[in-house]
Amino acid sequence: MNKYVKYGITIAVIILIIVLLVILNINKNNNTQKEDGVTKIVTSFYPMYIIAENITDGAQNVELVNMADVNVGCLHDYTLTTEDMKKIENADLFIINGLGMENFIEKAMESNDKVTVIDSSTKVSNIIKHGEETNAHIWTNIDNYILQVKNISEGLINSDKQNAEIYKTNTDTYIKKLEELKEEYLENLKFLKDKKAVSLNEAFDYLGQELDMEMTTIETDHEESTMSAEMLKNIIDKIKQENIEMIIIDKNDNELNAKAIADETGAKIYKLNSGLKGNLDKDAYINQVNENMQILGGDRAN
Ligand SMILES: [Zn+2]
Repeated sequence: MNKYVKYGITIAVIILIIVLLVILNINKNNNTQKEDGVTKIVTSFYPMYIIAENITDGAQNVELVNMADVNVGCLHDYTLTTEDMKKIENADLFIINGLGMENFIEKAMESNDKVTVIDSSTKVSNIIKHGEETNAHIWTNIDNYILQVKNISEGLINSDKQNAEIYKTNTDTYIKKLEELKEEYLENLKFLKDKKAVSLNEAFDYLGQELDMEMTTIETDHEESTMSAEMLKNIIDKIKQENIEMIIIDKNDNELNAKAIADETGAKIYKLNSGLKGNLDKDAYINQVNENMQILGGDRAN
């Protein structure tokens, strides 16, 4: 054989090997481990579970579990259980709210550094801060929630190509519903623009933001009974001075302080749904928004 032909063959073989290696590597990066052919998705808490449930509906070879108990509510100061760690250990994808809601994320990653984390808060820009602290309850603004759906969908599509089409279709359907909901909600509640309210639950900050309300939020870690007597007095003074007519709490909140404030000031208590707990119905978020719309619009003065 001519030595040039030999060289030619050797070079061709080398090129072929490189091409094969590149292809293999691309495949590896495009697919999460899936050793058993199943994509294991773990969501950190309830609102993330409802989103993932909508996007993955009908997808093949997908296992979706929620890390925390669905009724645990917010994850501030949450301590991971052995059970939680086990779920994360076996996960291919971990869907989080982000913005510090999951402050255990580093510890969680120690048990599984291969897990792909999907942060739902990416590109959410209207973040509210209380001093140094970021308010992570972005989903009570429907616009933010839609962005969270988009971010999670993008993450799922990138990691699980096999189900990309179904994820896209489900996302489009869900976002269409949410856009319609938002339109109706904003139309029905536009009379709340510039309306003053005191919220004893920080989750409603973003609700107030979306409705353009003048909301004063008291940080209570979702437990209004933790307010000091001094704080209570300050709120009462403020409500009297500014003629504030609305006190907003979550329907799962204690209500004791809200009642004391209402008794002193004549302001009305609105028990809303912050979407932190609930049933696993795919339309749970939509139902929660509708519930809030009813309560906020219920005694609308004509
Ligand atoms: Zn919270």
